[in-house]
This record gives sequence, structure tokens and C-alpha cells, in this order.
Amino acid sequence: ARIEEKLFQNRYLVDAGRPHIKVRAHAVPSPALRALVHACPANCYSETDTGAVEVATDGCMECGTCRVLTQATGEIEWSYPRGGFGVLYKFG
Ligand code: SF4
Repeated sequence: ARIEEKLFQNRYLVDAGRPHIKVRAHAVPSPALRALVHACPANCYSETDTGAVEVATDGCMECGTCRVLTQATGEIEWSYPRGGFGVLYKFG
């Protein structure tokens, strides 16, 4: 099966009002932050009209890519979702 079909089998429970990833306010994103627009496997990152980068955490697979990429720049705040929320992997 294609990866999209496999991913579709995972359920995602949004912790409304408590996103586990936040982009800190910025005027110009670093190259690392901007790269996430394409690097995030769940397409959570997008560029705004003003050239800033924003995140919508619905569908986040908690892969940690954004955390690793922006570790040096400190542009995002990343924490694991509260227990019971976030991605629920289905095996088999
Ligand atoms: Fe995207 Fe992975 Fe970051 Fe989630 S943890 S927003 S899937 S890069």
C-alpha cells in the first residue's frame, strides 16, 4: 500500500486549544524553519502571505523532524501531546 493509505489508518485525536508544537513569533524564518514547509511529512507547516512560517498540528505524526531541524534556531516549542491525545498508531 502507498504510504498515504497506511498513514490514513492511524487515528489522530486533536487536543483542541493545546497544540503541542508552536512556532515562536518571527519576522523572517531561518532556512531551517522554512525547509519544514517541505520537510514535514504531514504537511503541517505552511508559509503565510508575509513570509512567516506557521504550523497546524492536525495530523502531526510526532516524527520529531521539526524539532531536530530547529534545535539550533529555537524557533519552535515542541512537547509531546498529553496522554491520550495526538497520533494513535495502529499496528498490523
Ligand atoms: Fe511535522 Fe514531524 Fe514536526 Fe509533526 S513532528 S509537525 S509530523 S515534522
